[in-house]
Amino acid sequence: MRTRFAPSPSGDLHVGNLRTALYAWAWARHTGGQFVFRIEDTDRSRVTPEAIAAAADTLRWLGLDWDEGIEVGGDFGPYQQSERLPLYRSWVQRFLAAGNAYYCYCTQEELDAEREEQRQQGLPPGYSGRCRELASSQVSAFQKGGRLPVVRFRMPTGSTVVRDAIRGEVLFDHANVPDFVIMRANGYPLYNLAAAVDDSMMEITHIVRGDDLLASAPRQIAIFRAMGTAEADIPVYAHTPHVLESDGKPLSKGYGTSSVAWYRDHGYLPEAVVNYLALLGWSPGGDREDLTLAELVKLFDLERVGTTAGRLDPRKLDAINGHKIRALDPTDFVLRITPFLARAGLVTDTPTEEQAGVVAAAAPLIQERVVHLSEAAELLAFLLAPDRHFEVDPEAAARVLTEDAKAVLEAADAALRTLLVWEKDAIERVLRQALVDELGRRPKHAFGPVRVAATGRRVSPPLFESLALLGRDRTLSRIQQALD
Ligand code: GLU
Repeated sequence: MRTRFAPSPSGDLHVGNLRTALYAWAWARHTGGQFVFRIEDTDRSRVTPEAIAAAADTLRWLGLDWDEGIEVGGDFGPYQQSERLPLYRSWVQRFLAAGNAYYCYCTQEELDAEREEQRQQGLPPGYSGRCRELASSQVSAFQKGGRLPVVRFRMPTGSTVVRDAIRGEVLFDHANVPDFVIMRANGYPLYNLAAAVDDSMMEITHIVRGDDLLASAPRQIAIFRAMGTAEADIPVYAHTPHVLESDGKPLSKGYGTSSVAWYRDHGYLPEAVVNYLALLGWSPGGDREDLTLAELVKLFDLERVGTTAGRLDPRKLDAINGHKIRALDPTDFVLRITPFLARAGLVTDTPTEEQAGVVAAAAPLIQERVVHLSEAAELLAFLLAPDRHFEVDPEAAARVLTEDAKAVLEAADAALRTLLVWEKDAIERVLRQALVDELGRRPKHAFGPVRVAATGRRVSPPLFESLALLGRDRTLSRIQQALD
């Protein structure tokens, strides 16, 4: 089996594209085949080198490796369509010579007028085929008039059955498939031609792509046939249904929940995003929701992809993400949160030994409680930020560091000063004794002020461990600061 992902990246890839890529990849891996990554950029204005590099990064981040394609090469390269123009032109020449294609001199105004006429007569829109059989006198008249022709594919009569792994067999009557342009007047190929030539020459067996392209299938199959492809070698299609926003609207464009880069920046694990994307339209059966990439590959089957649109479900993604974060090996968790700590300026890009030590000691305190890796920065700031940057969140101060809290902080200060060994159990013991037993506060009112004074926040990692890591001097000076 050979599958491919063939985006025309003009910005961040969105979850719809990526889910299609994932299904194509999973099918190749499931069957022991190859996954090809090609760039469709014959409409050059939209595709930028930055967007191509970003698309490759996103695939790599998700763990979707490709056997052939941009950056890695392969036997059927180049894998960027703008570098394959001579190939498309030579096929167009062959189609022209064999009568599978013809020059069309119609101007835009003529095509518009034709369409208007069809509309008035209640006919479906589409090219009438007027340039199919032009006399040479007409051709020279057009040429003298300075008209530059496009090349149109001559759609044969009859019908095409598209074999689709998701939808079954889909029949297209060619009466509804007018002759279509395959090359512009400037010699640039159009999508249907370039995609079909590449899919054929790259020996793709399964074309997994969005169902907005279903209507292209009979056109591309006609091109395969004109290229001399045997019926048995015409690829199987798998047109995947749309992905919609959670409210059922089309995916929003740009940076947001529909862009995969957004998930990376907001602290989602790639394995959680892959797991979640896989389930937007496919299910391994039963109610299994937590899958590793290896399990996904093992269980994936194109025929189990549903035909209804998938809807984004942020709560489900969060649940999967939190679950996978908790399941990480502790040292792996440290590696994953470090870039977020660096981004927040809490550690250097390559953490110093001291920073690494603090992060390694503190990470286990938060691994159970974060849903997004990015939360690590907020939770660990009290430990990692230089003291001169330490600040109590004003809202927390207003609510918790009240007049009434003074007695608590004073008692905490006195109790902590008695400690000879600064460690978690001892800290807990003296604080409970001083604040709960002796001062008679309920635990919430006893420890809240200490937490806010020492960590600056109402939400922090477990208090006694946090104080242990913060150390005696810093803890006592922050309590003093809160009392001042
Ligand atoms: N380049 C097309 C796109 O990005 C996909 C083409 C295909 O998969 O056939 O929409």
